[in-house]
Amino acid sequence: LEKTLALIKPDAVRAGKAQEIMQLIELNGFTIIAKQKMQLTKIRAEEFYGEHKGKEFFPKLVNFMTSGPIWALVLAKPGAILAWRALMGPTNVFKARAEQPKCLRALYGTDGTQNATHGSDSPASASREIKFFFSALSPA
Ligand code: ATP
Ligand code: MG
Repeated sequence: LEKTLALIKPDAVRAGKAQEIMQLIELNGFTIIAKQKMQLTKIRAEEFYGEHKGKEFFPKLVNFMTSGPIWALVLAKPGAILAWRALMGPTNVFKARAEQPKCLRALYGTDGTQNATHGSDSPASASREIKFFFSALSPA
């Protein structure tokens, strides 16, 4: 079964929506095989989003991601990586609300940076990101 790494970001956790999002995840056929609430340090957030280092939104992104607790989840389902990104919807919350009003980012996101959830974007990312948060779990 394919696995992907999901995050419930600080805006959604602050709003008290983490449990509701986890219920929706399971209603959509994913199994949550690991979960952990935690707070990222600046160093860890910068490492996690290393591919975006140097972009204009990077400091704002790191600030946001360290602004409060998150939930890290490992989700399993056939085709989990694409299925989870489809359930999240577009990265930009305003675009999400316009184009896919029932997706998680439309329902729970805040603005252009604070978009409620994260999902791995490829099998290589999923493997890296699952190890990043759950080093004791095998990636495949
Ligand atoms: P994620 O990696 O969080 O699942 P994504 O793959 O849809 O989201 P990325 O391009 O990887 O989007 O960007 C990572 C995160 O950086 C986004 O989820 C969002 O929080 C933030 N971000 C991306 N682009 C912008 C932007 N143009 N302005 C502000 N924040 C942005
Ligand atoms: Mg991404």
